[in-house]
Amino acid sequence: MTETPLIALKRVTKVYGRGSTALSALKGVDLTIQAGDFVAIMGPSGSGKSTAMNTLGCLDTPTTGEYLFNGVHVETLSRDQRARLRRRFLGFVFQGFNLLARTSAQENVELPLLYRGESAAARHTAAAKALASVGLAGWEHHTPAELSGGQQQRVAIARAIVTEPAVLLADEPTGNLDTQRSREIMELLWGLNVDHGITVLMVTHEADMAAYAKRIVRFVDGVVESDQPNPNPTGLRKSVAVAEAQATQTVGSA
Ligand code: ADP
Repeated sequence: MTETPLIALKRVTKVYGRGSTALSALKGVDLTIQAGDFVAIMGPSGSGKSTAMNTLGCLDTPTTGEYLFNGVHVETLSRDQRARLRRRFLGFVFQGFNLLARTSAQENVELPLLYRGESAAARHTAAAKALASVGLAGWEHHTPAELSGGQQQRVAIARAIVTEPAVLLADEPTGNLDTQRSREIMELLWGLNVDHGITVLMVTHEADMAAYAKRIVRFVDGVVESDQPNPNPTGLRKSVAVAEAQATQTVGSA
C-alpha cells in the first residue's frame, strides 16, 4: 500500500481573466510531495511559480484540476475551510519578511496564536520557544527596525513555525539578504526540515540556495518542465562536515 502523499496537484490549471484577455498561468501541473520533503521551485519570471505557491498555500483555487492536501480535496473547500486548513497546517515566509513595524519580535511571533484564540500565557511560552529555535533568544523585545535583515527573516520564520505547521511555504526567503545571511537562513530551513520534520516548499531564483533542497522542480510556461532529486543537498554536506569535525575532535581529545 502506498502512503497518501501530503500534497498532490493533479492536472491543475489556472486561468486569470476571461475571453480574449484570459491568461493561462498554469497549464496542467502535476506535482506530488511527500511529508518531509524539501523542494526548491525554480523557473523564469512569469512561469507560474507564484500561482502554484498561492494554490499550494490554499490562498487561491485552481480553475480546473485537483489539489489534495492529506487526501482532502482543497478545490472543493469553502474560503473559510481553506483558511482553517491554512492556519492549522501551513506556515508562510516571504521575501520582504512582512513583520509588523513598531511591534516587538515576541508580539510578531505571537500573532498567529492570537488569531487561534490561545491564552496570553500559552502565546508567550510558544513564541519564546520559537524565537529561541531560530537563534533569537534574548531579542524578544526588539522591534524589526532594531534587527538586521537576517534577524528579521528569523523572526518571520519563528512566526511561521510557532503554530507547528506541517508545511512551510517560503517565497524567495533569501531574496533580500546577502550571501552569508542567505546561507544562514537556508541552514535554518534545513534544520527545520531535517530535525523537526517540517516539509519545506521554497521558491528561489538562486541556484546556490536551491542546492540546499532535496528536490528541485522547474516551472516553464505554466508546466513542470523538470523535477529532479538533489542527491547531495548543501545542508546535508554541512551536517556531515560538522559531524566529522566533532568526531575528529573527540578522537583527537581522547
Ligand atoms: P512567476 O511567479 O513564475 O513569476 P506568476 O505565477 O506570478 O509567475 O505568473 C504567471 C502568469 O500569470 C504571468 O503571465 C502573470 O502575468 C500572470 N498572472 C499572475 N497573477 C495574475 C493575476 N492576479 N491576474 C492576471 N494575471 C496574473
